[in-house]
Amino acid sequence: MGVFLGAALVAAVVMLFILQPVVKGLHASLDREEDELTETEARKRVALLALRDVEYDYLAGKLDDEDYQALKAELTAEALAALDADEKARTREEGGAAGPADLEAEIARARALLEGGPECVACGYRNQEGSRFCSACGTPLMAQPTN
Ligand SMILES: [Zn+2]
Repeated sequence: MGVFLGAALVAAVVMLFILQPVVKGLHASLDREEDELTETEARKRVALLALRDVEYDYLAGKLDDEDYQALKAELTAEALAALDADEKARTREEGGAAGPADLEAEIARARALLEGGPECVACGYRNQEGSRFCSACGTPLMAQPTN
């Protein structure tokens, strides 16, 4: 139980770490143009906040493992779909002018984090799940030691 609780707490901290900049960014864009919240931004925001709520509910004991896993998978898929849609919408709006490379990198990073892929031992870049080589530096990604 202690180990399980510890793992859950680690997962929650990781989720907070992941969501913090995303949620902050959403707040910033909401403050700027609250009345112009796009459909994709709304979807993304709802999915990410729901994902956070699921973590809280799980930690609070309101969800059992099965519900938690199912909800998390569902919301993660929705958040990723919304991220993709948002990315496309922004690219269209801005004509790909305002730092699209940075934005793409940001979204790729957020997506990789949400998907929980392996982190490169050489450069620390978090790759997409199932990657065999680091997308940033090409280092082969070893399977996690299981000891
Ligand atoms: Zn690397």
